[in-house]
Amino acid sequence: MELSRRQVLRGAAVGATLAVTANTVAEAEVAAVVGEYDVVVVGAGAAGMTAGLTAARRGLSTVVIEKAATFGGSAARSGAGIWIPNNEVILRAGVPDTPQKAATYLAAVVGPSIPAARQQAFLNNGPAMLSFVMANSPLRFRFMQGYSDYYPELPGGLPNGRSIEPDQLDGNILGAELAKLNPPYLATPAGMVVFSADYKWLALSAVNVRGAAVAAECLARGTAAALRGEKPLTMGQSLAAGLRAGLMSANVPVLLNTPLQDLVIENGRVTGVRVPAGVIKARRGVIIGSGGFEHNAAMRNQYQQQPIGTQWTVGARSNTGDGIQAGQRAGAALDLMDDAWWGPAIPLPGEPYFCLAERTLPGGMIVDTGGERFVNEAAPYSDVVHVMYERNPTDQCIPGWLIVDQNYRNRYLFKDVVPTFPLPNDWYSSGAVHRAATIDGLASAIGVPQATLRATVSRFNSQALSGTDSDFARGASAYDHYYTDPAIFPNSCLAPLWLPPFYAFKIVPGDLGTKGGMRTDARARVLRSNGTVIPGLYAAGNASAAVMGRSYAGAGSTIGPAMTFGYIAANDI
Ligand SMILES: Cc1cc2nc3c(=O)[nH]c(=O)nc-3n(C[C@H](O)[C@H](O)[C@H](O)COP(=O)(O)OP(=O)(O)OC[C@H]3O[C@@H](n4cnc5c(N)ncnc54)[C@H](O)[C@@H]3O)c2cc1C
Repeated sequence: MELSRRQVLRGAAVGATLAVTANTVAEAEVAAVVGEYDVVVVGAGAAGMTAGLTAARRGLSTVVIEKAATFGGSAARSGAGIWIPNNEVILRAGVPDTPQKAATYLAAVVGPSIPAARQQAFLNNGPAMLSFVMANSPLRFRFMQGYSDYYPELPGGLPNGRSIEPDQLDGNILGAELAKLNPPYLATPAGMVVFSADYKWLALSAVNVRGAAVAAECLARGTAAALRGEKPLTMGQSLAAGLRAGLMSANVPVLLNTPLQDLVIENGRVTGVRVPAGVIKARRGVIIGSGGFEHNAAMRNQYQQQPIGTQWTVGARSNTGDGIQAGQRAGAALDLMDDAWWGPAIPLPGEPYFCLAERTLPGGMIVDTGGERFVNEAAPYSDVVHVMYERNPTDQCIPGWLIVDQNYRNRYLFKDVVPTFPLPNDWYSSGAVHRAATIDGLASAIGVPQATLRATVSRFNSQALSGTDSDFARGASAYDHYYTDPAIFPNSCLAPLWLPPFYAFKIVPGDLGTKGGMRTDARARVLRSNGTVIPGLYAAGNASAAVMGRSYAGAGSTIGPAMTFGYIAANDI
């Protein structure tokens, strides 16, 4: 049976008090003990729910506290690609992975700054974590066939990919709890059941037979689910709901609207958490899975390069770095705070649009405010923004502009705007998009030199016709070809811009969340700057500095490690 929040808080508050002599609070105070467990997990996202499930199934009494009124965090909003080499799902699908290949590849991607022991801990525990989650929740997973590793040409890289995503789940399994699932970032088109791997094809559904077939399949899945009376969930919705269902059957309470305010430290050991109602004690340990600090403007300004703010991220609004700050007050060292899971975004009214396929489809190119290309537009999204920040101080490219022609618009879905259909008026009125009959007119509209933009388009067009981008090698990596149009020859990444009108979409450095946080060891224990462990304190997911370092191995490189280190932390406890 699952305990309600009130039962938990009331049941444990049998007149107990705790002197919080922590160095985390300025003065000692006496707080009511409102709950006591072996393990307190902070945050009901990818890392936290996996940690909670693991701790409970290992026989530890466990609670998950969640700041928001909903569970799932960014994980619920996400596409839920998961990158875990050598897991049973990909091996069953015939992916030619081996532990040696994965270790070689990860080391090549992340470089020497990430201790080998942490890399190895991720690789060794990831497959076991995934099998454990499948054995203890309704979650099942499917291989994202063809979603290349992001650097497939590095040793051990796989051009056909290693990423998986959750299978379809019926939301009815959660009963009333389904209403508390954090909504997705992008709503699935009505009546359809869509997987992450389908989007590549949906973008092409007007011009590609397989694209049309995938669209029909999504509709057929939606119809079948409706006939069965299901509430079909996929992507992050499926992942978060599946983990929550696992917690329900393991009797782990998830206390919504219960933010961590601080850690309780007694005799140098973390022994609990302070929440608005009082203190929840943790006999064995506290696992922080409270996500990144993407929505904390002060932290972004303090740690990250300008221009920055909270307006371009698509991460969950409740991720304001609370756990990282509490850890820091307890003595944790922080790493990678200047970095994020970056990706070019279009600042559309309401919410930024993290643009994947639209940025890389042929017939589009990105220019800086001088009107020049500066990057391989089809490179991994994190790399594109790294280039933007490197270049911006000397050659302004924030914002940059994605330039496309009407031919591109006639062929491809753009966000949810079907080919040939006009873009919404408020995209124009907000300044996120401009349109003009000529390249010169477009240059004037976005304030870049006409002659330079004309020359850039002309050079790009001749490279597209020859199939070789001699400036930025777009199309040289197998990864570049994931979101492209196979009908385009000789290079499916490159097509000329020729048919008016022309469009310019404003490109800013967006992100899926931040990746800097508490420094941890291979056991997910939080470390001080002198390398010693803070007893009783663990961190996983975006509250910890990423095992991926400044890179991104493949689709799912944030959720895969988040879940794995949540699992490692709970097992260590
Ligand atoms: C639109 C979108 C698409 C994405 N697609 C992918 C993808 O396909 N693959 C991939 O790997 N990654 C993807 N990501 C990124 C991924 O979702 C996150 O990196 C991942 O969820 C991080 O896991 P986490 O557990 O650290 O944080 P989260 O999943 O965000 O969970 C953190 C939780 O902690 C809670 N919290 C915050 N502060 C407190 C507090 N003080 N007390 C208690 N609780 C607190 C939050 O409310 C939240 O519920 C995507 C993200 C977005 C937004």
